[in-house]
Amino acid sequence: MTVKTQIELARDGVVSPQMQQVAEKENYAPERIRELVAKGEIVIPNNPKFKGPAVGIGTGLRTKVNASIGTSSDICDIKSEVEKALAAEEEGADTLMELSAGGDLDLVRREVLAATNLPLGNVPLYQAFKETGRKYQDPSKLDPEFLFDLIEQQLQDGLSFMAIHCGINQYTIERLRAQGFRYGGLASKGGTFMVAWMDATKRENPLYEQFDRVCALMKKYDAVLSLGNGIRAGAIHDSHDRAQMAEMIINCELAELGRDMGCQMMVEGPGHVPLDEIEGNIMLEKRMSGNAPYYVLGPIPCDTGAGYDHITAAIGAASSARYGADLICYITPAEHLALPTVQDVREGVRATRLATRIGDISKYPDRRENEKMAAMARREMRWDDLEKYLLFPEVAKSIRAERCPENEDTCTMCGDFCAMKKGMEVFEPDIKGDKIYCTKN
Ligand code: SF4
Repeated sequence: MTVKTQIELARDGVVSPQMQQVAEKENYAPERIRELVAKGEIVIPNNPKFKGPAVGIGTGLRTKVNASIGTSSDICDIKSEVEKALAAEEEGADTLMELSAGGDLDLVRREVLAATNLPLGNVPLYQAFKETGRKYQDPSKLDPEFLFDLIEQQLQDGLSFMAIHCGINQYTIERLRAQGFRYGGLASKGGTFMVAWMDATKRENPLYEQFDRVCALMKKYDAVLSLGNGIRAGAIHDSHDRAQMAEMIINCELAELGRDMGCQMMVEGPGHVPLDEIEGNIMLEKRMSGNAPYYVLGPIPCDTGAGYDHITAAIGAASSARYGADLICYITPAEHLALPTVQDVREGVRATRLATRIGDISKYPDRRENEKMAAMARREMRWDDLEKYLLFPEVAKSIRAERCPENEDTCTMCGDFCAMKKGMEVFEPDIKGDKIYCTKN
């Protein structure tokens, strides 16, 4: 089976059905989408088996939200993971990652693939190290050939993107050792097990050494290769340390090489980053990779929010979306504490959707019309209309219904002391205009 990838089609001047769908959804001319796909600034996670609507990620597009689910060795309930996948989709996630590390890993992947309409991604190193550990009681016995076979088998199942840790090499590890500190240790599971394998075997990372082979596999299925951030910072004090930056430089270099081979590429980063460094981080990724779509994990801008880390991360996500992140992985309230529940998944997707909306209306000031319509409906106390413009109308409706006001125009927050009502009574004729059409005459 040979397919032409989206980037190859775009470079041949072809607007694929997927590019057409992205153009329609995002209100762009199809030719503009084709140009950006050809440059590698937009990717469309794809796979011949993927039948859901196409999702574009990259320059000029709405910032997308990823939800991650998956079993662990402690909690392994496939039915519950399928429920989480459906909950994430219902809440408006754009992509899904299946990151199981417990139980029958082939089965859970296939069950989730059968249940979802979202492009599905994963981290193949999880299964590679888990299966090797089960077989030899030692994950460092991983055979690189088994890893490559596994990547192909997972792609055959229908995955549309994969986070693969190609950018860790011996040079990166040397930077980690030489800097002499790491307050948050290592935060990436796939990255850490790969580093441990390289340390135990004294060999180079096969995903780096045989990068062209990784790209050939991804190309065969037109899947997006997302360059994993294995040395990402797990604490704000590690942000932009030399080890993380060494991996980022290599990932950005690989993004360019992969694109040259006709593979759709994304770069991942950056983990925990204080708010004042987010803009710089995104600028570096964009400049060094030639504007490859940036898939941001977090960023989590403080280390003390456990229990509310979906909010911590949403604050970072609003900022990263504003400065150019293209896909944001959600964080749930259970982050750093436990495997998320279905309700945690819902909260995580909602918080991240809100964050990306905030980021997008700053990134694209011409996309604020919906906010204006909501403000006017609120001002005029058109409660039913207001719901049309809200991100979470059902939640808003149920809160209002639980605490009904005496006067239906207002709400129980201020009751008869309602500023909106009084303001409109006094100033309605003066403030009904629209500043866009306002003239001095
Ligand atoms: S009662 Fe207070 S919170 Fe409610 S609509 Fe009026 S001004 Fe707004």
